[in-house]
Amino acid sequence: MVNDLRNCPKCGRLFAYQGRNLCKKCQEEEENEYLLVRKYVRDNPGATIFEVSEATGVEEEKILQFLREGRLQSKGLAAALECERCGKKISAGRFCPECIKEMDAQIKGIIGSQGSEGKKDANIGRTIKDRMYTRETDRK
Ligand SMILES: [Zn+2]
Ligand SMILES: [Zn+2]
Repeated sequence: MVNDLRNCPKCGRLFAYQGRNLCKKCQEEEENEYLLVRKYVRDNPGATIFEVSEATGVEEEKILQFLREGRLQSKGLAAALECERCGKKISAGRFCPECIKEMDAQIKGIIGSQGSEGKKDANIGRTIKDRMYTRETDRK
């Protein structure tokens, strides 16, 4: 295995990159923050990002990141996320279900009508979907 050494963007320490751009220590910290946030959201359904941030001490930006990654889902927090394509309020991920459907159809259309160029777009589509749906199972 090749050791891909990087500087942790959070604490600046050198670490061996293994799929996540954070050192082990910061990853653990993030995991703890995630568990804190998840617990609070479960106990306090309908809480706003601000409230969750106040109660858990986790940065709002971090909570948004959990939402964007689709790890965290809450109706109360939903209002903070917007579809990157149409701006509609969504509860998880980066796009609303309608846009996902439309993009899916577009990707399929491209594959149907074009050659290698379409394949590239299909890969982009799959990456988005992988991020949204298979994040947990994808982990190694
Ligand atoms: Zn670090
Ligand atoms: Zn949308």
